Amino acid sequence: MKKLIEVKKIKAYYVLDIFGKQRTVRAVDGVDLDVLEGSVHGIAGESGCGKTTLLKVLFAAVEPPLRMVDGKVYYLNGAGAIDLYGIDESERKKLRWSFASYVPQGSMSVLNPVLKIKDTFRDFISSHLKGRSKIEAYEMAREHIRDLGLPLKILDAYPHQLSGGMRQRVTIALATVLKPKVIIADEPTTALDVVTQRGVIQLLKDIQLRQGSALVLVTHDMGVHANISDMLSVMYAGKIIEEGRTEDLFENPRHPYTQYLIKSLPRFGDRSKRESPPGSPPSLFNLPTGCAFHPRCPFKMIKCEKEEPVIFNVGESHKVACWLAEG
Ligand code: SF4
Repeated sequence: MKKLIEVKKIKAYYVLDIFGKQRTVRAVDGVDLDVLEGSVHGIAGESGCGKTTLLKVLFAAVEPPLRMVDGKVYYLNGAGAIDLYGIDESERKKLRWSFASYVPQGSMSVLNPVLKIKDTFRDFISSHLKGRSKIEAYEMAREHIRDLGLPLKILDAYPHQLSGGMRQRVTIALATVLKPKVIIADEPTTALDVVTQRGVIQLLKDIQLRQGSALVLVTHDMGVHANISDMLSVMYAGKIIEEGRTEDLFENPRHPYTQYLIKSLPRFGDRSKRESPPGSPPSLFNLPTGCAFHPRCPFKMIKCEKEEPVIFNVGESHKVACWLAEG
């Protein structure tokens, strides 16, 4: 499969001024990632592990206090590789929403409460496709909403007149109206009930299939990853600590943290207590030495406290950063 985004050793840190003292949060710290055409790439991990920051880097939405400290992000659009942070902001702006689009956690941050949905679509389309008349922009919105199987009457509604689930569907429709090559979704089902969550995830999957695009999906819900992700990257303390085909990770998770994430999933008919990782994630201000997971790891060795694990290849496309895989 063709690569659409290639991420090489990126480091993105928040540099904060706290009472006159500069503090650095290593939110993404040396991440490599390939996003492949026609695939769903899941990113899993607990809150505060750097998932959302990684998405901001992929979407070229790095703003102070977040800084790109090192590494490269390439968009591969068929005509070659575009070095996303080597071009100027006006060029990056053209790629946002047309090459890669972003579905945020909360729909209200994108939908203007005082505009009807159709006018939000019109403004969005006109600002990205110069020369479109108002009528053409409305028609494009209607066609897209119809294609997605959503009711056309939502175009005449204000955001507050729609349910949370429908607002999130509208946000997804807006993010995909320009037919981007990559859809980046950040916990798109937060605050929705289970049935609505399923519908929203299915809508994303349907669009990804129909448009032949890639979907990068951040969710802490391993059940969702099991259902729709083709590839899965597990993040911990700003790094990807295990990656591979989703079925391989579920069948043979090699990192103790991934094992806990999978064990914490409820299973049909199994009433035993689910196991979640002991303790809590470390502060990104002050990471443990060696393997960042060592204070929580039941298998830790002396080496783990001192040396950061390197990445081991443990199968086709399956990699893990854990000294247990050293063999
Ligand atoms: Fe546990 Fe050591 Fe592996 Fe880290 S490197 S996950 S501490 S066994």
